[in-house]
Amino acid sequence: MTAQIIDGKAFSARIREKVAQEVARLKSDAGLTPGLAVVLVGEDPASQVYVRNKGRQTKEAGMLSVEHRLPENTTQSALVELIGRLNGDPDIHGILVQLPLPDHMDSDAVINAIDPGKDVDGFHISNVGLLGTGQKAMVPCTPLGCLLMLRDYHGSLSGLEAVVVGRSNIVGKPMAQLLLGENCTVTLAHSRTRDLPEVVRRADIVVAAVGRPQMVPGDWIKPGATVIDVGINRVPRDDGKSRLVGDVDFGTAAEVAGAITPVPGGVGPMTIACLLANTVTACCRANGLPEPEGLTV
Ligand code: NDP
Repeated sequence: MTAQIIDGKAFSARIREKVAQEVARLKSDAGLTPGLAVVLVGEDPASQVYVRNKGRQTKEAGMLSVEHRLPENTTQSALVELIGRLNGDPDIHGILVQLPLPDHMDSDAVINAIDPGKDVDGFHISNVGLLGTGQKAMVPCTPLGCLLMLRDYHGSLSGLEAVVVGRSNIVGKPMAQLLLGENCTVTLAHSRTRDLPEVVRRADIVVAAVGRPQMVPGDWIKPGATVIDVGINRVPRDDGKSRLVGDVDFGTAAEVAGAITPVPGGVGPMTIACLLANTVTACCRANGLPEPEGLTV
């Protein structure tokens, strides 16, 4: 293997440490405790694990953590009413509605009910527009985590060729906007892209966010390129259990790439760290305080 491993576990620990320092500073200098409210509707087991982890890490950083668990049959208007109360609560600086919501709800309408300044997931249409026009936004956590890792590894990204594979609203599109903001030359590839291997071979930076296990092999990677693997895919093991793999074939890609994120232990841990970072950023913005450096873009 030739590639340097970009250790998301270690980097996310550094981000969380910086968040904790900023929280301590906000408490002592401004008498403020950043507060995050997480709303979970229904019993989805994976969502319950995410929400538990978010709550634990929020408290570990010294922040206020509030959880609202609502039954599956909650009406959309009841959920929007709760969001309205959280919007008006001065102790809450970030609101996250755990997705997916039950089928009877319109997720866009629910997300757009959140005060954009408290939208720490960065999914509100105002934040999407702000990011798309290069203005100060709340940035979605997963692409923010990818960008912080890329900046940490490369310093300047200016002029580099970046290929993002996957155009979802939560990862691919905001990732492309962020890379454009760093002055990369950006290609946003998807399932209809013609000759994807040739497109990926151009890239100095590859971000794979597809959801297909090990789809990107080493012979698509330009020698020395930096590979950020967002994919989280569970595949069966020989012993009947399962293991996690990314969208990149790590074994062959690591022979060619200059640097690569592993799965697990790459992008994954950065997402919650960036949620905490966004909550601190939201608290500072709401109170007209300077934003800490290195926690957002
Ligand atoms: P989506 O399913 O919303 O989007 C997948 C994208 O991949 C689509 O744009 C689709 O193209 C594209 N695609 C699918 N098949 C191909 C193909 N054969 N060739 C090229 N492009 C293809 O996924 P998400 O963006 O939500 O998630 C992507 C991956 O990232 C998943 O594995 C997910 O688990 C993981 N993830 C990890 C997170 C973390 O680390 N914390 C957070 C969020 C996601 P088209 O639009 O044309 O259909």
